[in-house]
Amino acid sequence: MEIVELVDFLKNYDGRKIRLMEVCGSHTHAIAKHGIRDLLSPQIELLSGPGCPVCVTPTAYIDKLIELSLEPNTTVATFGDLLRVPGSKESLNEAKGRGGSVEMVYSPMDVLALAQDHPDRKYVFAAVGFETTAPVYTLLLDNAIARGLDNIHILTALKTMPGAISFLCDNGAQIDGFIAPGHVSAVTGADYFNDLAAKYQIPFAVSGFGSKELVIAIYGLVQMVINNDNTVKNYYTSVVDSGQNDIIEKQLAKYFRPADVVWRGMGIIPGSGLLLKEEFARFDAGSDGLDEDNKRNKACRCGEILMGKAKPHDCPLFGKVCTPMSPEGACMVSEEGSCFNAYLVK
Ligand code: SF4
Repeated sequence: MEIVELVDFLKNYDGRKIRLMEVCGSHTHAIAKHGIRDLLSPQIELLSGPGCPVCVTPTAYIDKLIELSLEPNTTVATFGDLLRVPGSKESLNEAKGRGGSVEMVYSPMDVLALAQDHPDRKYVFAAVGFETTAPVYTLLLDNAIARGLDNIHILTALKTMPGAISFLCDNGAQIDGFIAPGHVSAVTGADYFNDLAAKYQIPFAVSGFGSKELVIAIYGLVQMVINNDNTVKNYYTSVVDSGQNDIIEKQLAKYFRPADVVWRGMGIIPGSGLLLKEEFARFDAGSDGLDEDNKRNKACRCGEILMGKAKPHDCPLFGKVCTPMSPEGACMVSEEGSCFNAYLVK
């Protein structure tokens, strides 16, 4: 079928209500950027899931980074979008304003040069992300070991997707199909989601990030829902294979072990995090047990939004107290966040 025919179908669909969730924050952004919601019938609802890394990072993690940044002779290095994520009381940016040592970098590898140039200083990298980003930290550790740098550490809030998807399905999220995370799938392969599809009898469509790719995947997913085809279909074959990348799998298994970790607003999800193995504990800046998740503003509904149980406009703070310039919750900080994207198109 031509793309216009797919759009025509999606626009005029008048069957039962279908609720689809895009799990990946980059999909959330792409869907907003391309105006994909405007192409869909009111009977097809797109919900944003817990796939924006900074959105699901608990406040205890931000608080720990702040604490480290204020320790003598210690610098916290991070990507830019983590700087404004609220902790329980303040953000890293605010801590920097009162003397915290915080360095924004574009790659974890930037820390190698810093650590080499300042051997007496301790550098802590804020390792946030999913299966896609985790391999980069293994390269950082490979290089730190090869260069004999013992002043590099990571504070990990790394997470893996299956536990979060299971959590949603087990907790009444009422989702008919998942747009599987495209970047994660590029690392894990599409088959990664087979067990979830079978266990929860729910279809998955792996999608790219362009407007046509999204339309094709959403059309495919709607067809799967209608036909009760609860399998995984890969609509992103230019990038995603069926199986996992062996080299990455070995790298992750070398350094990390699965752990029970907290997702912001969702609580502890068993086996959904990656912590350093015991033999690499010397590189850990204290990642275990960061379980507190105290909202700075109690009215923030990030947790419900990440679980598809509320939408950004349901939050009383949306666009008034909470904006991208002045975020009250993590979902308003990153360009992958649901509230940020809803604000862009409001
Ligand atoms: Fe939280 Fe702001 Fe979103 Fe409300 S609008 S849920 S305060 S991030």
